[in-house]
Amino acid sequence: QAQQQTKERSKSRKRSREASRARSANGRLGAQEFSFGDTLGEGSYSTVMRAQYIRTGQEYAIKILDKNHLIRKDKMLVALAEKNVLVKLGAGHPGIIHLHWTFQDEWSLFFVLDLAPNGEMQSRISRLGSLSLASSRYYAAQIVDALEYMHGKDVIHRDLKPENLLLDAQFRIKITDFGTGKILENGAERGNTFVGTAQYVAPELLENNETSKSSDLWALGCIIYQMISGRFAFQGLSEYLTWQKIKSLDYNFPDGFDEDAKDLVRRLFIRDPTQRLGAGGPDSAHSYAALRAHSFFESVSWETLWTDPAPPLE
Ligand code: ATP
Repeated sequence: QAQQQTKERSKSRKRSREASRARSANGRLGAQEFSFGDTLGEGSYSTVMRAQYIRTGQEYAIKILDKNHLIRKDKMLVALAEKNVLVKLGAGHPGIIHLHWTFQDEWSLFFVLDLAPNGEMQSRISRLGSLSLASSRYYAAQIVDALEYMHGKDVIHRDLKPENLLLDAQFRIKITDFGTGKILENGAERGNTFVGTAQYVAPELLENNETSKSSDLWALGCIIYQMISGRFAFQGLSEYLTWQKIKSLDYNFPDGFDEDAKDLVRRLFIRDPTQRLGAGGPDSAHSYAALRAHSFFESVSWETLWTDPAPPLE
């Protein structure tokens, strides 16, 4: 069945491109304006392809979503939510994937995105076992910087994890996959049926069905732990057992784990979401300013974070 679906999706991509060529020069942006290259990856409802905008030579990643597939799986609203969140975030931050244009034809939706040619952070961690302390610090700082911007715009990601941290040509972070993103109206969300990825889910979602900006900070703690140690902070033999560990804060640090990093992770792994470092308002003791001022980030130059070269990933 999966093979059949892949075949159908590739057929519909081909139809889209042929039709776009036939309808070229209608004045609106369409697939005919791009020269498509290799496939960068496949999602559950999408294919992402490298593409060059012929007019400027600029390269992008185009996410192609098959409309029939979205309708059949009842995921049209998810695709539209992703688009709305990306539009809201705009081009305002270098650490967040930017949606340049969208267009559609009879068969597909097209999202023209920044190209992140160096793949997912998850593959780097898997390949290297773990990251150096210098890399972990650098990437943790970039995530903090991007999260502060995102949260300032009242957007929460809700599924932050190394698979959703892409690396651009300079090996800097681009946060992606806002299909689960949410524009907040009154601080926290209750009663949603969404649960992110087991190992990164915050306890308030498991206990009260509630997510807020602070749930992204819990995930940040999980990511810092994982970059440094190479393993999940919370991992049971099943999803249920992983959740049990999260709810009872059952984790420990491997030998040699940096002391400043331990302190930071402990301040993020706090059950009460309002007490997590980064979750408080500007005047509180756990504001974003306090998070940036944590001793783990002492050597970070926040002003040049997006222009300094990335530490080597080795
Ligand atoms: P799912 O929909 O199942 O959650 P996903 O979110 O990974 O999966 P996509 O957003 O379609 O699905 O991405 C598919 C793959 O394409 C990703 O795993 C990623 O490796 C690659 N990819 C996505 N966006 C980009 C990009 N802007 N630049 C480079 N590669 C990308």
